[in-house]
Amino acid sequence: MGYVGSPRPYTGHMKCPFCGQENSYLSLNCTSCFAYIYPEEKEAAKLIKPEDTRKYNPLSILSFILGIIGIMVCLCYPMSIINSIIAIILGIMARKKILKDGKKQKGERLALWSIICGSLALLGSISIAIVDYMWKITSLYGK
Ligand SMILES: [Zn+2]
Repeated sequence: MGYVGSPRPYTGHMKCPFCGQENSYLSLNCTSCFAYIYPEEKEAAKLIKPEDTRKYNPLSILSFILGIIGIMVCLCYPMSIINSIIAIILGIMARKKILKDGKKQKGERLALWSIICGSLALLGSISIAIVDYMWKITSLYGK
């Protein structure tokens, strides 16, 4: 039976020192009480990769959602053009804010994706608007 701080066995099961639950020797946490079975490995993991506790910039999430919506609704162009422009502006604002704060918040990539999605949606909506306009003009000539 293992105890906190004992070296990790290579096979079999580890009994949780806190609640007695049998755990696979591969698991870091107890499946029943979620306590760390190998605290020294948790510390080692921290040294290798510090936990990312930063929060997402809310603007970056909002702009990303708008960017995705923009792509989904780029067929209905008057609305999607406005939506895409907002997505791009919010994405740029979010990126600027995150970079200015020295990346204290997450969402830099998310904001970049909103700018990309927003631009694609904008291009799509504008081309559809142009095609639609041309179609109307040619059908007027046809009469
Ligand atoms: Zn436990």
